[in-house]
This record gives sequence, structure tokens and C-alpha cells, in this order.
Amino acid sequence: MGLLVVGSVAFDSVETPFGKADNVLGGSATYFSTAASYFTGVQLVAVVGNDFPDKHIQFLKRRKIDVRGLQRTKGRTFRWKGRYDFDLNQAHTLDTQLNVFASFNPQLPEAYTETEYVFLANIDPELQLEVLRQVKQPKLVACDTMNFWIERKPRELKKTLKHVDILTINEAEARQLAQESNLVRAAKRIMSFGPGIIIVKRGEYGALMFSDSSVFSAPAYPLESVFDPTGAGDSFAGGFMGYLASVDSTDESSIRQAIIVGSVMASFDVEDFSLNRLKKLNTADIEDRYNAFKQLTYFEDL
Ligand code: AMP
Repeated sequence: MGLLVVGSVAFDSVETPFGKADNVLGGSATYFSTAASYFTGVQLVAVVGNDFPDKHIQFLKRRKIDVRGLQRTKGRTFRWKGRYDFDLNQAHTLDTQLNVFASFNPQLPEAYTETEYVFLANIDPELQLEVLRQVKQPKLVACDTMNFWIERKPRELKKTLKHVDILTINEAEARQLAQESNLVRAAKRIMSFGPGIIIVKRGEYGALMFSDSSVFSAPAYPLESVFDPTGAGDSFAGGFMGYLASVDSTDESSIRQAIIVGSVMASFDVEDFSLNRLKKLNTADIEDRYNAFKQLTYFEDL
């Protein structure tokens, strides 16, 4: 099954207590599609400026990501600058330049309109909805967002959420969106906006899935060295949706497996800056860490 994503393709400048990287490849859709590409074919919808080097597009193509929906227009590529202190769960945005995204008018290539698995990665909720409108019969629509959009476009975001099955969202942003500090109540409140499943990403504490009928908790992999958490949420979503599209199932047990696959991909992402670690994975790396995740929570009954 194919998987379509709309989101940012960016130049990131990131500072962590362990180093810094300037103008490196980033963006929600870039992390998402790279992580997902280990499981299924990905169709990318985004825009870059004429300052975007061909080598990055060649990289996406080598990962077999379909870039027919990646427009290149006059202007500058989206830029994000962020800093993390010792609490790596909290990104501090220093600067966001929408640049070519400010006037982006996505037109899906015909081949993308039949795609059944859709991910609306973090980007302007109006763009997310515009892309979704062009997809004929999606089987599963998942979505991500962040404080930048919750604060600037709350009404538009709620309009998009009406059409979403699963929302993946950071813990702090779930509280902000719901205007509710208790996480269980926050998840219930967000469900009333549309999505039947809420996956709350809790950084080094893992992820919690809330649905009408159950709660599922996944740990994060206890890594000894974490360099840069940028993209962890998008890599999680890439593994999650890539896996679901590959098994073509949305039942509860597949969703639980997909949450672990997402956690596996996020755990690789944070081991290096930009996409440096995600670029170099192979199937055995992914399987080994999936099994390590199983061991992490395995226990025997009396
Ligand atoms: P995360 O997975 O939450 O760490 O997402 C990090 C990525 O989100 C970075 O590579 C940024 O380029 C991208 N990003 C940051 N702010 C925004 C925004 N307002 N809209 C879209 N993408 C963003």
C-alpha cells in the first residue's frame, strides 16, 4: 500500500548541549518519509526553494521516495532554528521562516490521489486540509502539529482534525491544544475534535496511545547517548504509518505493533544530527532494535 505525506522540507539549524549543526537537511516530511521508506513506498508533497541542493533530492530518490509532488519554486526553502537544553524533551524554537511555504498551493499528481494511507505532517493546517481534499478515498488519515500552529491557526487546525483518524502530538502540545493539564482528560478532549485515536509522544518517556476502548503504553529505548532529538516525532510517525501501510491493516494489534516500530525509528533518529543515522539503517538494525523493545517490557506471570 502506498503512503502519502505532506509536510515541511527544511533547512534546520540546531543547537544541543552536545554540539550544533547549521542549515542541515530537516523538515517534518523529510524525517517522516525517510523513516517510512524502510517499510513502504512514500509519495511526498512539499515545496522547496531554488536554494535547495540537488544532492538532497537525489538522497530522497535513492530511498525510493516519490518526489513528483515536491515542487521547486523561486525563493528560499523553509528554515527552522531550534535549541535544546539538557532537558532534550523540550525544543525551544528560535526562528521559523516559512519562505516558499507561505504561498504554497499543493496540486497532487494524479497518481497520488488514489493513495489510501495519508499522513499530514506538521505544517500549516490549511495546507494539510487542502492536500486531504485531493485524496479520493483515504483508508487511514493521521496528522501531527505543534505549538506554532496551535497558537496561530487554532480554528483551521480544528477544521482539519475533523477529518483525521489518528493524531500524533507531543505531551506539552496535547495539553495546550486541549487546554487541559491532565493528559487522560486532554486526550479525551482532543478526541471530541475528531480523531478516534490520540498518540501522545513523551520524548524519553515513550508514547501513550488513547482510544475509546483502550490505552497502550510504549517505552522509549534507553539510549546511552542522545545527540539531537530533532525529527524524533516525525521519525516515529514515519515508522508508525510506514508499518501500517506495509501490513495494510488498521486493527488494534497492528496499531500497537506500529507504535513500537515508530519508537524504533525515533530511537535511531536521536543518535545523530539531521538524518545522519536514519540514512544508514538496514533491515537487521531495525529488527534487532524491535526485538530489544520487546525484551524491555517482557515479564512472566507467576
Ligand atoms: P520534530 O519531529 O517535532 O522534532 O520535528 C522537527 C522538524 O519540524 C524540524 O526538522 C523542522 O524543520 C520542522 N518544523 C519546525 N517548526 C515547523 C513548523 N512550524 N511547521 C512545519 N515544520 C516545522
